[in-house]
Amino acid sequence: MTSEKIVEVAKRRGFFLQSFGAYSGVSGFYTYGPTGAPLKRNVEDVWRDRFVVREGNQEIDAPTVMPEPVFEASGHLDTFDDMLIACSECEESHRADHLIEDETDLADAESLPTEEIEDLIADNGIGCPNCGADLAGVAVDDFNLMFGTNIGPGSASPGYLRPETVQGIFVEFPQLKEYARNQLPFGVAQIGRAYRNEISPRRSIIRTREFTQAELDLFIDPEEDRPDLSDLADVRLPLYSAPDQQADDGDLEEMTLAEAVEEGPVDSEWVGYYLGIAKEWYERVGVDMDRFRFRQHLAGERAHYASDCWDAEAEIDGDWIELAGFSYRSDYDLRKHGEHSGEDFTIFREYDEPKSVTRATVDPDMSTLGPEYGSAAADIAAELAALAERDPDAFEGEDVTVEVDGESYEVPVDVANFRIEERTESGEHITPHVVEPSFGVDRLVYTILHHGYREDEIDGEKRVYLELDPEVAPTTVAVFPLMDREGMGEYATELEADLRSVGFATAYDDSGAIGRRYRRQDEVGTPFCVTVDHRTLEDDTVTVRERDSTEQRRIPVDELTDALEELRDT
Ligand code: ATP
Repeated sequence: MTSEKIVEVAKRRGFFLQSFGAYSGVSGFYTYGPTGAPLKRNVEDVWRDRFVVREGNQEIDAPTVMPEPVFEASGHLDTFDDMLIACSECEESHRADHLIEDETDLADAESLPTEEIEDLIADNGIGCPNCGADLAGVAVDDFNLMFGTNIGPGSASPGYLRPETVQGIFVEFPQLKEYARNQLPFGVAQIGRAYRNEISPRRSIIRTREFTQAELDLFIDPEEDRPDLSDLADVRLPLYSAPDQQADDGDLEEMTLAEAVEEGPVDSEWVGYYLGIAKEWYERVGVDMDRFRFRQHLAGERAHYASDCWDAEAEIDGDWIELAGFSYRSDYDLRKHGEHSGEDFTIFREYDEPKSVTRATVDPDMSTLGPEYGSAAADIAAELAALAERDPDAFEGEDVTVEVDGESYEVPVDVANFRIEERTESGEHITPHVVEPSFGVDRLVYTILHHGYREDEIDGEKRVYLELDPEVAPTTVAVFPLMDREGMGEYATELEADLRSVGFATAYDDSGAIGRRYRRQDEVGTPFCVTVDHRTLEDDTVTVRERDSTEQRRIPVDELTDALEELRDT
C-alpha cells in the first residue's frame, strides 16, 4: 500500500510524524517536520493566491478559543456530534458509522439514525476492532466533538476550541460588512487551526484532532448576485452522485461547468463557480485528476438549511477521502448569530428608487413596560415589534399576547403604542446568503504526497521520488559540490546563498556519493539539483539535473537563475 510507504518516507524525511513520541505519542496529533512544514505552507500560500488575492477577497485571522454563546448560536453545542460505541469488554471507543463503513459496502453511514446503526452492527455481526468482542446490543451514543475549556479562572465563562474556522468569520460580520462598505457580494477567508475531539483519529494526517482549514465565506445577495462563469464554462467537472449510501452504485459523469449548472446536477451557480476554480486549483497543486471527483451530498447528509452541497474527494489506496466541502448555506449562519446576539447581521439593500410603503410599527412605552414586566421588558418590546410586522391584525383587540422564553405576556395595545404608517423607504435590510468552500489542508498535503509518489529504476537501481509541483515542493533547488575540495565547496556554498537571496527555497548537501545525494532530494520532491564540479571551476558552468526525467544539462552560472525560473514555471 502506498499509504504505508508515505508514512514511512514522511517520518524518515521530515514531512510529518506523530507528536509527543517521547511520551508514547497521542493519537490524532501530528508535527510537520522541516520538509512538511514548508510543503504545507506553500499549499496554503497557493490557496491564498487563488481564493483570496485573485478573487479580491479579504482575509482575517481570528482566535481559536471562542466563548460558548458562539456555539449555542451556530448549533455546534447541540448537534456537532459523532456516533460513539464503547466496547463493554475492553472499553475502547469507536466511531459506530466507521465500523459499518469498514465492514459493509455502505459508503456513508454517518447520515443514518443511531437506531439503524445499532441494528446494522447487530445484523452484520460487527465486533470490536480492538478485542473482537461482539458489539450487538451495545448502545450507540452521540458524542460532541468540541474541546471545551474555561476562559479565565473558574467555570463562569466556558469556551471551546473552534471546530471550524468559519465561525470566526460569521461572528465578526457586523464589522466585516463595514470594511466591505456594506456592498455585496464580498468574501472573507481564513486559514487556521481547527480542533475536533475525534473518537477514532486515523490514517495519519487524514483524520486528526487538530488540523488546518482554509475556508472562504462569500456573502451574497441571493436575488441580485450572480457569478461570472465565462472563464470557467469549459472546465470539465468529474461529478459523482449516488442514489443512496452505497459506494459503488453511483454514477461518475464528466461534464463542463456550463452544462453542470444549466442542465446538470449542480443547483447553485455559485457552488458551480467554486467547483470550477477548485478543480483547476487542485490540478495546479498536484492532485491526480484521474483520482479526483466531486461527490454530491445525499439528501440525508445535508444540513436542512443547505440547498446544494458537494465534496471534493481524492482516491487514496482504493478509498475516497473528502478533501473539501462546497455548500450553499442560505442565510442560516448570519440569521442565527443575529438572533442570539441581538446585533445587526444584515445588509441594507437600497431600492433603485425610494418606495412608499405601509408599515405597522410599535413604540412601547418602556416606562410602563419596564417595572411591570421586569427583566423581560426588552425582549417583549422586540417581540411586539416583530409581531407588528408579521401580523398587524394581532393588535386589533385591547390586549396583545406575546411569548418570551416560553412565558406568555399580555400587553395592552395602548402600551404597545401600535401604529400603521405610510412612509417612504430607500431600501430594506436583508440577511445575506453564504456560499462556503471549505478546504482541509492536511488531507490535501497527504494526497499530494500520495498522488506524487513514484518508484522507478535508474541504472538498475530502484528509485523513489515524489513528483511535487515546484510551486509546492519544500525545496526548489539543491546545490551540491561534487567534492568538498579544490574550492568546489566554497563555490557551491556561494551559489546556494545567491539562489536563496533571489527567493529560491534551497538546500545544500556535500555528504556522500552524488548519486545518494540525488536520491535524498528525489525522496523529498526537490525538482532541480545543481552540481558544481571541476569544470565549473574552469568555465563557470554547472550541471542542472531535473528530478522526473533525471536529464542533466550544462548551464552557465550567470544564466542559472533565469534557467531555473523557466524550468520551474513550465
Ligand atoms: P469528515 O466527514 O471526514 O469528518 P467533515 O465533513 O466533518 O469531514 P467539514 O466539516 O466539511 O468536514 O470540514 C471541511 C474540511 O476539513 C474537510 O473536507 C476536511 O478536509 C477537513 N477536516 C475535517 N475534519 C478533519 C480532521 N479530523 N482531520 C483532518 N482534516 C479534517
